[in-house]
Amino acid sequence: MFFLTHLFSALFFYFLFFDFSLIGLFFVSVGSLFPDVDYAGSILGRYFKPVEFVFGHRKFFHSIVGLVFFSACLYYFFGTIALFFSFGFFIHLFFDSLNFSGIRWFYPLKIKVKGVVRAGGFLDIVFSIVFFIGIIFLLFL
Ligand SMILES: [Zn+2]
Repeated sequence: MFFLTHLFSALFFYFLFFDFSLIGLFFVSVGSLFPDVDYAGSILGRYFKPVEFVFGHRKFFHSIVGLVFFSACLYYFFGTIALFFSFGFFIHLFFDSLNFSGIRWFYPLKIKVKGVVRAGGFLDIVFSIVFFIGIIFLLFL
């Protein structure tokens, strides 16, 4: 999915369920973009190219195991505020599940969950716009 779809969907649900805080906003934003660090063409991945080579795209970093592992690491250093990272990460996985390439939630098991949305395609852009409008509504109306 388009990085803005990941960012806007996570921010929309953040504003829907939680009170505003800058640190919460930071963690949920990082969590929403973090899984694509395993893709060298992504916003974060371009700075961490060896990650895709070592782990592969949409494998460990796009699974419950990855979510729990990275959340536990951040929880160790930052405490409960790091759970916003987990929240953003989970929403990223959910929306990647709608992608026609799908993800393996239970990696290393080969069971794949996939949908009909093409990354960067029409529906992906519609999601971005709808969530952006939703954020505006939640913040200002
Ligand atoms: Zn992804």
